[in-house]
Amino acid sequence: MHRTAARTATALLAAVLAGTALGAAPAWGSPGGGGPTRRVEVFAEDGGISRAQAPAASPYVAARPQGVAPVRGDGEVTALVHNGDPAAKLDVVVIGDGYTAQEQQKFRSDAAAKWSELTAVEPYATYRGLFNVWAVSAVSPESGVTGDPDQATVRHTALGSYFWCDGVERLLCVDEKAVEAYAAKAPQADLVLVVANSTKYGGAGYNDITSPLGYEGIATVAGGNARSGQIAVHETGHSLGKLADEYAYPDQGAYQGDEPPEANLSTLTADRMRRQGAKWSRWLGQASPDGGTVGSYLGGGYYPAGLYRPTENSIMRSLGREFNLPGREAMIAGFYRHATPLTSPTANGSRLTAADRLSVGLPVPGTRLRWYLDGRELPRLADRTALDLADLKLTGPRSRPHVLTAVATDPTPAVADPALRAKLTARLSWLVTR
Ligand SMILES: [Zn+2]
Repeated sequence: MHRTAARTATALLAAVLAGTALGAAPAWGSPGGGGPTRRVEVFAEDGGISRAQAPAASPYVAARPQGVAPVRGDGEVTALVHNGDPAAKLDVVVIGDGYTAQEQQKFRSDAAAKWSELTAVEPYATYRGLFNVWAVSAVSPESGVTGDPDQATVRHTALGSYFWCDGVERLLCVDEKAVEAYAAKAPQADLVLVVANSTKYGGAGYNDITSPLGYEGIATVAGGNARSGQIAVHETGHSLGKLADEYAYPDQGAYQGDEPPEANLSTLTADRMRRQGAKWSRWLGQASPDGGTVGSYLGGGYYPAGLYRPTENSIMRSLGREFNLPGREAMIAGFYRHATPLTSPTANGSRLTAADRLSVGLPVPGTRLRWYLDGRELPRLADRTALDLADLKLTGPRSRPHVLTAVATDPTPAVADPALRAKLTARLSWLVTR
């Protein structure tokens, strides 16, 4: 539709500006020496999404001369949001690019603004307590990034960010190795967001990356542009939700393959899905947060036919939209792959006495808490997050340890799949003696 047309027009304009014929590699942003490339997503200001090919390496990474002392502040890690132990949380790493040593405070404030944009969208809004956000300072020798404000602008920066990647002005590419080197400085990296020092609209989604650090995919956004946070939201639909794109190219033909693995694409019509109890059958007919009701809408996964998507226009199809019901379910399940609904400053398995006090944390609003002593529920303690263990009124021999267990369950109706619901419960146990 218009998205492909717009992309072609932009590419044509880019080719003209770069003085190359369409079809020939544009001079700007093409990989130096023809290194490996990556499939990335491009995000139009009208919300449309398309795909392009980006080099894995950037020619604009600032060289660090050998033997020179590291720049002060470079690689410094600040906790923008600290909700707890990285092992129990989903750790988002935000890295700045094109910020000089004097601009690191600006970077942290841009990073915080992007996190606010993400957490304005559900299910992030409800589940923000599951996250830590680490800001990693990357000190660039120059302020701003290549391609801003125009194609003639070149800036060498810590991560080599550049607009006009693959000939597309709004496509903001980055050097993957440089990103990984900085991400490694954070306590943990489950999700990586690169914020460029720019007010120009742009970003990119790298979603076929699996880093040895554990993160899957990188989202790049312009730090000073108020709409670019949506790019990160869409991108995490892939990395955390394992969701497919719901957009299509009109000239892609009909999909002929097997049932795709993603939760939000199917070869089945609503009727067949209901009969088989497959994919989003539990959500069929329900009102979806992105508008309309869940059904089977023709087109998705880049194909205009042969594949169905759950709703007309979720954020996996256009920016600025909500996740649909199956998407929201997949996102919550993704959050709980990295984070837990129950935490405690007292380690699981610790030995305690009746003189101790015990507390637990329930990071998600509405989570229900139950306590058990030697396997028997203590209903009077339900939903109490702090206990004086003397209240347990333990009896029996002084040396005999009792097992105290806390069980937390997120009762959200947004997760319907029983296999995924099992992940919404967590337990911790301690040994308590009189
Ligand atoms: Zn996508």
